[in-house]
Amino acid sequence: MGIVVENVSKRFGSFQAVDNVSLEIETGSLVALLGPSGSGKSTLLRLIAGLEMPDKGRILLTGQDATYQSVQERNIGFVFQHYALFKHMSVRQNIAFGLDIRQASKSKSKARVEELLELVQLTGLGDRYPSQLSGGQRQRVALARALAVEPKVLLLDEPFGALDAKVRKDLRAWLRRLHDEVHVTTVFVTHDQEEAMEVSDKLVIMNKGKVEQIGTPADIYDHPATAFVMSFIGPVN
Ligand code: ADP
Ligand code: MG
Repeated sequence: MGIVVENVSKRFGSFQAVDNVSLEIETGSLVALLGPSGSGKSTLLRLIAGLEMPDKGRILLTGQDATYQSVQERNIGFVFQHYALFKHMSVRQNIAFGLDIRQASKSKSKARVEELLELVQLTGLGDRYPSQLSGGQRQRVALARALAVEPKVLLLDEPFGALDAKVRKDLRAWLRRLHDEVHVTTVFVTHDQEEAMEVSDKLVIMNKGKVEQIGTPADIYDHPATAFVMSFIGPVN
C-alpha cells in the first residue's frame, strides 16, 4: 500500500513538531526517516499510523484519504523501541495475539505462527517467555507479532535503538533480508545515518519538523541538497 503525506503539519502547544511535510512512499518500499532527536520523526510516524491527527494536510493510503480513519481501519503494524511483549505469554502466544483477537481459526493461527517463527528465525523458541530471550530476539518477536495480521504497512520507530551496537548491526542486515522476502511497505525511523543508509531504498532527511531532502542513499550521499544534509550525512572525519 502506497503512502502519500500531503502538506501535513502538527503542533504541540507552541511547538511545531511537523511543519508542512509532503512525501510519497511507494508500495513495497523500505523508507527510512532520518534526523536528529526532536526533528519530528516519531510524530510523523504517529500521524501516518493514526495515533495523532494532523492540524492540517492529508494522509492517503492506497490513494484513499485516510486522514480521519482510526488506527484499526488503517491496517498498519507497529514496532517501537520499547515495544513490550506480553510477559505472561509465550513467544507463540505473543505472535498469535492479533490473530486471536480477530478470531482466526485455531488451525489457521497455528500454521501462521509457525510460518512467522521461521520468518524471524526463532524456530524452536516458540514456548519460551520474553524474559528467556535476548533483546534482539524480543524485537524479532515484536516484528513477527506486527506481521501476523498481514498489515499493508509496517511502521518501525527506532526498533533496535535500545540494543547494543553488534546486535543492531546484525538486525539491520536481517531487516533488509526480511523486507526483501515480505515486501510490505515499511517506514523505519532512526537517528543513525549508517543504519538508514544500509537498510533503506529511500531516505527522508528531517530537521526541525521539515523534510530537508528525499532520495536514495546514494543520491543523498553524493548530492546533499542543503548544508544541514551535508553536515548530517557527510563522511565522518
Ligand atoms: P523525534 O522522533 O525526531 O525525536 P518527535 O516527533 O518525537 O521527534 O518530537 C518532536 C518534538 O515534539 C519533541 O521534542 C517534543 O517536544 C514534541 N512532542 C512530541 N510529542 C508530543 C506530545 N504528545 N506532547 C507535547 N509535545 C510533544
Ligand atoms: Mg522519536
